[in-house]
Amino acid sequence: MTGQPPKLVEMLETLIGTPSVSCTDPRLDQSNRPVAEQLAGWLEDLGFVCEIRELPDQPHKVNLIATLGAGPGGLVLAGHTDTVPCDPELWQTDPFRLQERHQRFYGLGTCDMKGFFALAIEAARQHLDAPLQQPLILLATADEECSMDGARTLARSGTPAARYAIVGEPTGLAPMRMHKGMMMECIRVHGRSGHSSDPGLGANALDVMHEVLGEIKALRRELGERYRHPAFSVDVPTMNLGCLHAGDNPNRICGHAELQIDVRALPGMDNDAVHAELVERLRPLGEVAGIELQVEQMHPPVPPFETPESSEIVQVVERLTGTRAGAVAFGTEAPFYQQMGIDSVVMGPGHIDQAHQPDEYLDQRQIAPTIRMLSQLIGELCRQPATGSGRP
Ligand SMILES: [Zn+2]
Repeated sequence: MTGQPPKLVEMLETLIGTPSVSCTDPRLDQSNRPVAEQLAGWLEDLGFVCEIRELPDQPHKVNLIATLGAGPGGLVLAGHTDTVPCDPELWQTDPFRLQERHQRFYGLGTCDMKGFFALAIEAARQHLDAPLQQPLILLATADEECSMDGARTLARSGTPAARYAIVGEPTGLAPMRMHKGMMMECIRVHGRSGHSSDPGLGANALDVMHEVLGEIKALRRELGERYRHPAFSVDVPTMNLGCLHAGDNPNRICGHAELQIDVRALPGMDNDAVHAELVERLRPLGEVAGIELQVEQMHPPVPPFETPESSEIVQVVERLTGTRAGAVAFGTEAPFYQQMGIDSVVMGPGHIDQAHQPDEYLDQRQIAPTIRMLSQLIGELCRQPATGSGRP
């Protein structure tokens, strides 16, 4: 150990002052490496062993795996190091400078979610007096706000291994053990344009798209009958017709139509199966009309996520918070940890209403309870020897 990380406020200032924007527009996209390296420096001071791994497809972005202690079991405190882009014009203050006002810390990433790391380090700092019986792993990922490639890469590598994870996304410190999946599909109909006076001169893409819309609405109705989950306020899978672009002139046969939809599958459903069903039901509509029809996933989808109520991590957080674990309405990296056999709960300080907004802030009244909660979890899950049954 070479020293101690700085005080909490100073860590928050540094993290907010180190921009790490993820954006599909390469002009706005930034590396998260400086944030990961800063975290690694602080964690090494506490005795963590740190590993920084570049993402294979985006080498300017990195995941940080910081481990204290060794052995089976273990607890992961996980978060993403990147933020969404922001429009400084809409902010009352500089989004990249931590500001304290009205018992709040303002800045981009205060609640979503670089602030979480500073609180996790504070909690870890309370457990340096004796060697841990099970490892504590701080996981800081890249590119969650765009591709979730950081967590996807970890899931593919199957590392780190641990039994439980807390994903510190802003939930107002309420435990969440499930969310829906997220998948966007694009349906393209390639017809042939021609003069509108004679339909035989072309093949109308909009006519086929009309059938496509009807079929999607029918599938949506059927999925709603097949799947229902009472834990969600919208208790059925959703399929939103989001945008439609087609044609160019009233007096030309519509040659091309493109529809984009958003699909939110319930836990227990499989994105790939929904995609396959869409393809199977829509493709014949193009064949009948002699028109090419494509159904494509626009991005790699985020799977639905559910940790069983009976999982020890759910039981522990429910006991510590006095709150039953529920469902969040946004997607997280938790399903990728779940794929690695790490039972996960989403729970962190701040509120999602303040995320992705100008004047994002973290309510200071959430800080002490978060540190206490994380410290209790470390106490229960890392300071006790691993019990038999669970995965390594
Ligand atoms: Zn987030």
